[in-house]
Amino acid sequence: MNEDLKAEITKLKHEKHATILVHNYVEADVQDIADFIGDSLELSRKAKENQAEIIIFCGVRFMGETAKLLSPKARVIMPAANAGCPMAEMCQAEALRAWKAANPEAYIVAYVNTTAATKALVDICVTSGNAERIVTKLDMKRPVMFLPDQNLGANLNRKLGLNMMLWNGYCHTHNRISPDDIRQAKAQHPDSSVLVHLECKPEVVELADAALSTAGMLTFVQKSNAKSFIIGTEEGMIYRLETLFPDRQFYGLNHPILCPNMKRITLPLVRDALLGKGLEIQLSDEIMTKAVLPIERMLEMS
Ligand code: SF4
Repeated sequence: MNEDLKAEITKLKHEKHATILVHNYVEADVQDIADFIGDSLELSRKAKENQAEIIIFCGVRFMGETAKLLSPKARVIMPAANAGCPMAEMCQAEALRAWKAANPEAYIVAYVNTTAATKALVDICVTSGNAERIVTKLDMKRPVMFLPDQNLGANLNRKLGLNMMLWNGYCHTHNRISPDDIRQAKAQHPDSSVLVHLECKPEVVELADAALSTAGMLTFVQKSNAKSFIIGTEEGMIYRLETLFPDRQFYGLNHPILCPNMKRITLPLVRDALLGKGLEIQLSDEIMTKAVLPIERMLEMS
């Protein structure tokens, strides 16, 4: 059944001159039909290089918006219209506009997990894959606001000895991971390396061997001599790691770490998106012009 659907999707994709971009957290079946799988930074780069007429973006809405900003001529279609990122919604443009009016001297660094309307108000974007590299190059003599992820911001502040102000957003999925989850997993698999995502709380990051983006996890495993790994991020990443490194063992935590929004994207919805359904990303000319600037600054610096 799924194999028939996958064959139908591949055929439609060629007929429609479409490309399918898939985030690491999306269901395994959907990863199988991807033209490219990656994290936010890698997907942004792919969107910028894109030549296809249609991008079927299997991720959450802010990622589709980023693809539209970087590939304005393409139609960007989200298979699941309701796949949003709650963290991105925690920093609304109106709230940021008010904060900027009260703090006009601040330089604003936005995690790419923000809406296009919010990006239009910030100075530079970062992803979890390039945040450290970019933040170390900034002028920290002036006040800096990092938004919306207080965990990623706090992890950067700790590691780099910085004092960035932090917006009070967070990712529900990663925020649920506790130090006890890590301790239990280590007790069960004492010889495994522990990799957690940078969106985890600092007290979780402290117990890990490395805190990384999902792309960073792939590189870490590739270079590591360890035979097994405990993975503290959304479970879709475990399928990706198992596919790429079949000779290694990957363990999740003692309860499912799932992003319900990423899991809304299914093979039937991808097929329907290729048949003209789904949500097409539409952004105003003003947002297109302003919101692309902090993303391009990021790509230049990363
Ligand atoms: S895992 Fe967290 S940050 Fe990523 S899309 Fe889901 S809610 Fe947003």
